[in-house]
Amino acid sequence: MIKFICAVLILSISVASAKEVALTIDDAPLSGGLIYSGPKRTSRFIDVLKKEKIQAAFFCNPSRLNQDDGAARLTRYANAGHIIANHTFSHPSLNQVTASEYAKEIERAESILSSYSTFKKWFRFPFLHEGRTIEKRDAIRKHLDDSGYINGYVTTDNYDYVINDFVQKAMKKKLKVDLDRACDMLSDLNLFGLEEQERLAKKHLGTSVTQVLLMHENDIEAFCLDKSIAKLRSNGWKIVSPERAYSDPTLKAAPNTLWLDQGRLAAIIAATDGTMYKSKWENINELQRELIKRKIAPTDATP
Ligand SMILES: [Zn+2]
Repeated sequence: MIKFICAVLILSISVASAKEVALTIDDAPLSGGLIYSGPKRTSRFIDVLKKEKIQAAFFCNPSRLNQDDGAARLTRYANAGHIIANHTFSHPSLNQVTASEYAKEIERAESILSSYSTFKKWFRFPFLHEGRTIEKRDAIRKHLDDSGYINGYVTTDNYDYVINDFVQKAMKKKLKVDLDRACDMLSDLNLFGLEEQERLAKKHLGTSVTQVLLMHENDIEAFCLDKSIAKLRSNGWKIVSPERAYSDPTLKAAPNTLWLDQGRLAAIIAATDGTMYKSKWENINELQRELIKRKIAPTDATP
């Protein structure tokens, strides 16, 4: 009996303390890079996710479908069971276009993406720009609500695009690039961001949340994916489905704030107690310094 109680206790402790994250991959289908062609990169994502038994969500821009077998690649993601979701037709910032132009971008993307078998009405704001004025923010919120969408929010950014750019530029210059070190940096940024958000959630909201990691369909994510997953798991992170993440009750309601570019959890905290959290990595110079410090390429690979 005591053994049984202990087992139940251990089980309930491990359930309560499980740190959960879903993987979401933006800007698909991105054109080929210097590590993978577009189709090869898609194979790599599908193979690793299948091996690790993970379902991901791909937030797509149909303006990219005519390059590098783009349309067929999205079919392959859907056939592998991954979610296809809306990231606008051509990736504008809501800060640069009118609300009605933006709404048309959402509709145009849907008219194409809805033909994929795993399409869901989840919307990811390009650049995480959700509106700089309350009027614009609310106009798009209403448009999404009226069209049956949920906000495909993120909680954590890993800045993979900065690492990927650096690596691509160095490779283009024929510099020797240490991809394992690039993967270490990416893994560290994943962990730093997730742990930081976990700490904030507990401190400001008194609870853990199921997180959503923002990734991109680029070479470095594909190349490092197995290592990134292993590092998350070895640090106690359980990778869950995007559907589970988007049913987290703490993150469900749209927060009444304009502090929206730092992810959903930061926005909810801002609306709750006024704290405006920004990651120390939300700074391109910091990231560039880190890339150089870690000797990912022999010299500064930026032009
Ligand atoms: Zn994007």
